[in-house]
This record gives sequence, C-alpha cells and structure tokens, in this order.
Amino acid sequence: MTLVSPQHKHFLSDKVEHFTESVIREMTRQAMQHGAVNLAQGFPDFSALAEIKRAAQEAIAADVNQYAITWGAKSLRVAIARQMREWQGIDVDPEKEIVVCCGSTEAMIATLLAVCNKGDEVVVFEPFYENYGPDAILSGAKPRFVSLRPPQASKSEGGGEPGGEWTFDEQELREAFQHQTAQHHTKAIILNTPNNPTGKVFSRKELELIRDLCVEYNVLAITDEIYEHILYDGSEHISMARLDGMRERTITINGLSKSYSVTGWRVGWAVAPPAITNAIRKVHDFLTVGAPAPLQEAGAVALSLPASYYRELADRYRERRDHLIPALEKAGFVCYRPRGAYYVMTDISAFGFANDVEFAAYLVKEIGIACVPGSSFYKHPKDGSQQVRFAFCKKPETLDEAARRLEKLVRK
Ligand code: GLN
Repeated sequence: MTLVSPQHKHFLSDKVEHFTESVIREMTRQAMQHGAVNLAQGFPDFSALAEIKRAAQEAIAADVNQYAITWGAKSLRVAIARQMREWQGIDVDPEKEIVVCCGSTEAMIATLLAVCNKGDEVVVFEPFYENYGPDAILSGAKPRFVSLRPPQASKSEGGGEPGGEWTFDEQELREAFQHQTAQHHTKAIILNTPNNPTGKVFSRKELELIRDLCVEYNVLAITDEIYEHILYDGSEHISMARLDGMRERTITINGLSKSYSVTGWRVGWAVAPPAITNAIRKVHDFLTVGAPAPLQEAGAVALSLPASYYRELADRYRERRDHLIPALEKAGFVCYRPRGAYYVMTDISAFGFANDVEFAAYLVKEIGIACVPGSSFYKHPKDGSQQVRFAFCKKPETLDEAARRLEKLVRK
C-alpha cells in the first residue's frame, strides 16, 4: 500500500481511502511478472466466435465509427429486449427501458450513482464480487453484508458434492433490510446470480424470499446476471424482474463479456423501468457518453445467435470445471462445486498457510499459478483467509498445464 503524505491527502478524495485497488487485476499483473498460468482474472484465453468478430470488423469498415446514441445503438437495444422476452418472458421497451454502457461494470456504478443518496444502505451477499463495495462507496452508500455460508457437507466429504449449496440465513437477511434509522435506510440489494465467486445459482424460493423483503421494505433489486447462460447440473437462471411485484423495482444488469467471450469489448447494459432508466442514462451520458459504437453492432449479431450456441457454451464450461476441480482436489484443495459462472472457490486449510494472501503469493511465485485470495471477496479479510478462487474459463491446454504445476504443491 502506498503511503500518503498530508499534502497528498489534501489533494485526494476521502472516498478513495475506503477501498483498495482491484486484487483480481493485481493478480493478473503478478501472473505476467512470474510467467504463471493465470487462473485469477475471469477472462477466456480462447478465441471469440468468428461470426461475432467479423460483425465488429464489418461495422468498422462500414464506418460505424462515431458516437452511437448515448444510451445505446437501436439494433442492440432491440436485440436485448428480444432476448429478455425469449429467455425470461420479460417485456422490455427498448426505447425507454435500456441503457447500454461500457461493460456491466459501468452499468452497475451508473445505476448506483443514479439511485443512491448519502446515507443509503445497499445489501450485498458476501463473499461478493469485489466491485460492489467500491461501487457503493463511490455512490455515497454504505454496503451492508449478509453471509453466504459454504456447503459444509461437501467440505467434510472432500468436495465434489453437487448437492451442496451456499446458503444464507433468512433472519440475517431480514435484519439487513430492517436496519433503518433516521440517517440510514436500505435503498437496494445487489444480487449476482449465477454468482461470482461462489458459483451459486439462486433458487426460485430464495429469490421469492428476497422479493418479499424488497416489497415489504420498499427496496430496489439490482441484479447482476452477467453469467446467465453459464449453468451446470440442470440449474436454472431466473431473472428477478420476472417475479410478481419485482418488474417495477428491479434493475437488471448484463453484458456481452461472459456470454460471448469478449471481456475487452466493454459492452454491457442496464434494464429498468422508464423513470430509473432516465436517471441511469443521465449518469451514463456524463460518465462515458457511450459504449463503443461498432462493438454494439456486433453485439446485436451476438444476441441473435441460436439457443444451441448457449448450450454449447455451458457444456464447454462444464467440461472445464470438471477438468480443473479433480486436479485441485488431488492437490489438497477442498472445492465448493459451482452450479453456474466460471469460478471455483476453494478451502486451503490443508496447506497450513497463515492466510490466503501468503498462499496466493506462494502459488504464483513458486508453483506458477495465479489465483485470487479469498479475502478480496469479504469485508473482513479473516473471513476469506483460508479460501482462494480459481477461474476455469481457459483452454484445456492451460488447465492441463495448471494441473501439472499443481503436482508440485505439498500439503502441510
Ligand atoms: N469478472 C472477472 C473476475 O471476477 C473480471 C474482473 C475484472 O477485472 N473486471 O475475475
């Protein structure tokens, strides 16, 4: 951590003192420095579909090189609305209810800036995707964390129990919603399903429980559904906006990155009722003006791919999951088997390290594999001090090489 002199402090915003740089991206830098296999940051190391890349090239050649409409090219908004109808049965007006942003990352922070006031609280399940904490702070809100507990059964059986789910305590969630004082009130819950880093896919019953609390306490749901098509073992993705009573209080966030393996394109979106969309559009306009115009055209082509494309995507990721997990288990990790997304959270107690940060530093330098220390997904570092996350969105050869290097790892 860099030391800040009083003079520098005078120049800097207090807000940035309350969060650190991204640990995920730092681990990518370390992977490059040490020539390690990068299973830290969640980006594919294989090619995107030729058809989509061609659409982007053609858009540039056809001179789609100036600003798109600030809230998104019409072709992409129409494609998003069509997909939401087809996959989730949700009717969306592409003229009034969609904002295309620079990735779902911008969609999330633009949404929080558009809905939060100073003193608002935002409920977040933890472990959580590391952006949500800083996003809440930058928008003046305070994150309030509710624990997801790892599946105990699979831990004692050495992992691999597909039935083992991450669970939360209903009462703890209710208390987070109830926490209203003169200064604080709960504005929103951020829900990420399928979930990064746990791989949990929230069930209808769990979503209904969250829905009931949102309605009772007049709270918004901001749902990050970027992994919606990456599902295993028959799990089903249910959009919160689809549940009775939620359409008018849900902001659905999604993007091209994960479904089409184009994380560097930076095209994502937020879907919300018109008044909320208007507010997000205003923030988005002054943050970035617009997302890359030619890549939005290519996005419209991507969203028109047939259902077989998504089945294939999930099948390939299931194979990769089932490739990496046995290698990790053999090396001594306890794996919490994901039901969606492309990460596996693991328990590292077998290796006898003081904490996850020391373990991750050892793994990247001495073994040649980069992972993400578990503590970066928790408010209190000690809660994640015996966990690390691996991403398996990698070529079979990359996973083979990781498995080979894991053989050098010794248990305590
Ligand atoms: N979502 C990816 C991850 O969790 C990438 C994070 C990022 O760098 N934006 O690893």
